[in-house]
Amino acid sequence: MAHAQLAHESSQETIAQFARYVIPNYRRFPVCLVRGEGSWVWDAEGHRYLDFFPGWGCNLLGHCPPRVVAAVREQVGQLIHVPNTWYMEPQGAFAQALSERSIGSHLQPGQCFFCNSGAEANEAAIKLARAHGHAHGRYKIVAMEGGFHGRTFAALTATAQPKYHVGFEPMVPGFVYVPYNDLEAVARVLDHETAAVLVEPIQGEGGVNIPGPKYLPGLRRLCDERGVLLILDEVQTGMGRTGHWFAYQQFGVAAEPDILTCAKALAGGIAAGVMIARAQVAEVLKPGMHASTFGGNPIACRAGMATIETIEEDGLLERGLAIGERFRSQFEALRRELPERIREVRVRGVMVGLDLTFDASDVVSECLKRLLLINATHGHVVRLLPALTISDELIDQGCAILADVLREMVV
Ligand SMILES: *Cc1c(COP(=O)(O)O)cnc(C)c1O
Repeated sequence: MAHAQLAHESSQETIAQFARYVIPNYRRFPVCLVRGEGSWVWDAEGHRYLDFFPGWGCNLLGHCPPRVVAAVREQVGQLIHVPNTWYMEPQGAFAQALSERSIGSHLQPGQCFFCNSGAEANEAAIKLARAHGHAHGRYKIVAMEGGFHGRTFAALTATAQPKYHVGFEPMVPGFVYVPYNDLEAVARVLDHETAAVLVEPIQGEGGVNIPGPKYLPGLRRLCDERGVLLILDEVQTGMGRTGHWFAYQQFGVAAEPDILTCAKALAGGIAAGVMIARAQVAEVLKPGMHASTFGGNPIACRAGMATIETIEEDGLLERGLAIGERFRSQFEALRRELPERIREVRVRGVMVGLDLTFDASDVVSECLKRLLLINATHGHVVRLLPALTISDELIDQGCAILADVLREMVV
């Protein structure tokens, strides 16, 4: 029965199908999701879950944001895909919108290369940095311990966490690792062969690690002094999550990168990735040097435009800061109540980390039983990437569930 209509009535049928036909490279919860709206998502049995981690950070506007749904519906009946051998208005419009909200100026606007994922955007950034440094013998990429940049080979090599490398060696040559949030360590390794420094403004998978306020501006200065490019991986922090379009903008131009990557929330949940580069850097990429077949397709670009429109018209950058403060005050109170269980609360807009003194995976499964979806990362960190559209009422409802779980947990 290979027709396009779906017929399963229970999660179990789908789970059995996966067991036979889908490669088991993910740890999945035994739940089949069928529908979502805002911060709610429903499974095949009709249970309704409160989602504090919609789409692993991709659904920054919640499930099925209306403007994105409308834009995609309209575009899909007009033109689904054409190759990058043609011009298409949605790609140009989205590139301009991103450029105007990120790097460069009116005289020298930042320029976009579109792709479909975070790994692909970082792969493009690493290739661009290498191409840019090539004439000067600069090829090394400095990356940070605890970072995460994706699963393709160069992005994986840049991911300085041994657990992700095991079994896939040898890695790509030319990568150098230093501790995160340590400017002196970067200064020590930069040399005449260094092409770029690659860093997340806040480490996401690494545990919601927020560097000191001098770190990003310090990296910018160091890179300028040593003739090295600064690449910011904003795949997770990007497009509105931290109260700014991009997290580096908290520091204004003092932390503006030469190359910026974004994916996850870029197009309201539709697959999309982008590398934005200063025009003077981007110009080394000539036709034929890099490409992505689906990159910048009209559906993703229309979805991206609708995402920007939603964030702007609904004032969601400011709202993101208010949501963050609400989470912070709830969890700081809880930390004072449970100091032996909660080590630290780390919040930037709708990026929230609760550093626990014990493994967080049981907290995730206990919350699931109580119909609250959260995430654990780096072993002991509860990570929440809630939607910018979540109401105060739902924040309080979910925080109360999580607080009960943390109080009651036997550790
Ligand atoms: C998720 C993530 C990636 C990888 O993105 P994919 O779309 O899964 O390839 C890269 N960098 C950061 C910071 C991420 O959070």
